[in-house]
Amino acid sequence: MTDSRSNTAAVQATNDDASASKLSCVKKGYMKDDYIHLFVRRPVRRSPIINRGYYARWAALRKMLLQFLKCESQRKQILSLGAGFDTTFFQLQDEGFAPHLYVELDFKEVTSRKTALIETCSQLRDKLGSTTSISREKGEVLSDHYKLLPVDLREIPKLDDVINLAQLDRSLPTFIIAECVLIYLDPDSTRNIVSWASRAFSTAIFFIYEQIHPDDAFGQQMMMNLESRGCGLLAIYATPTLQAKEKLFLDQGWQVFRISDLSFSVIKFSTI
Ligand code: SAH
Repeated sequence: MTDSRSNTAAVQATNDDASASKLSCVKKGYMKDDYIHLFVRRPVRRSPIINRGYYARWAALRKMLLQFLKCESQRKQILSLGAGFDTTFFQLQDEGFAPHLYVELDFKEVTSRKTALIETCSQLRDKLGSTTSISREKGEVLSDHYKLLPVDLREIPKLDDVINLAQLDRSLPTFIIAECVLIYLDPDSTRNIVSWASRAFSTAIFFIYEQIHPDDAFGQQMMMNLESRGCGLLAIYATPTLQAKEKLFLDQGWQVFRISDLSFSVIKFSTI
């Protein structure tokens, strides 16, 4: 990344923040995740407002994912862009809702770390089946129903290669997840990925969860904090509101857009 507000290592480190926050939520009983502790080196205790924010994020994604996975009997796929150390695949396996194929993409530095953890931890490895191939060097896990692959999402032609390598079927219903990922990219890359995804699959849902409103008091502080850490939200000024996000998706070939602002629901949850 060439923008002085953003550097790759700092953006990758947001994954460690997300994992630590999820573990904080789990420890407080907001949500269940039997795997996230395996990915966190230094557990931290987050404030109630952060725990509630993560809970809202988790609950919103869970609700939509389960609606998708439970409807009809057709085979389904999930594609997680910038998956980091997310453990949803392992949780869905335990719950009996894992899709036919779950594919995770991230930078090689991140997939290599995740690959090493999966390889060394039997609790994770045993979920993948005996024919799994794991390469730390390539940062790659290939099993029948789960694939972890390295790619820089900004290199659009490579996304097609990765789809083919992962054996994603372009005609199957596909749930694409981008949680706090596209907002770190330059606006052109974000738009290109949204456009690519609308063409890549014949039937798909694109679940996006990310920051908006950089200019209110909360947003200004958020922007300052993230820029000082080198992980500025490069795409936020191109889509600073819910309406702008809607326009981005509709302009890039998506047909329906359902949108909501989580700030209201975050306030509604009581403190645990
Ligand atoms: N989606 C996960 C992780 C969020 S942190 C979660 O919600 O828990 C953001 C992730 O996006 C990081 O793992 C980072 O490495 C990844 N990411 C950011 N830019 C990327 C890019 N250009 N290509 C691949 N991955 C990227």
